[in-house]
Amino acid sequence: MGRIVVQTPMAKQLDYHAMRAIFTRFQQAEPEPKGELEHVNAFTLVVAVALSAQATDVGVNKATRALFAIADTPAKMLALGEERLMDHIKTIGLFRNKARNVIKLSQILHEQYGGQVPSSRAALQSLPGVGRKTANVVLNMWFGQPAQAVDTHIFRVGNRSGICPGRDVDVVERAIEDNVPAEFQHHAHHWLILHGRYICVARKPKCGICPIREWCLYEEKSE
Ligand code: SF4
Repeated sequence: MGRIVVQTPMAKQLDYHAMRAIFTRFQQAEPEPKGELEHVNAFTLVVAVALSAQATDVGVNKATRALFAIADTPAKMLALGEERLMDHIKTIGLFRNKARNVIKLSQILHEQYGGQVPSSRAALQSLPGVGRKTANVVLNMWFGQPAQAVDTHIFRVGNRSGICPGRDVDVVERAIEDNVPAEFQHHAHHWLILHGRYICVARKPKCGICPIREWCLYEEKSE
């Protein structure tokens, strides 16, 4: 994903009581929120997240279903090779560059990590095509760490509502880490993404059916 920078005025940070109330409501509605990127193991999760930059989860899933059926380990991905990998993912934006990175990271995982995906942020971010956001998704979804990957949905929801306002994704990431009560940290990522994808949508947020409307600070709520 390109760098996201706020273009509209930000709400101020919501206080602790509002944050507790909001995440309690998210939890009641969806106790175990899941990401929508399909994967069958840690390696395919890394690949799926790397492929999802500037692409939708639905588009990535369409391409990876057949791919992961034949290449679900670094060794199998290397055996498939860059050309055939490109064939599988050519419907996804930037596929040439992404294919090159997936082959390179498969090689490193195969040669240096025994085919396993490392669980440290530094090791993950040293892989080609794996930035902080991808590493955070993998740390959160696979290794159960409260890492916050800020995507365009979280960025929008955070700034409108006051849950995690910030001028850029790094500030938003820190706002989540600093202000979301500890017991909600692990699932905060998915609750916020799903809220942004289905309720607090980009063009016209569905404030009329929003479960956290009473605490939201957005001044231009819709009916
Ligand atoms: S009330 Fe509207 S702007 Fe606020 S979080 Fe809900 S959908 Fe988004």
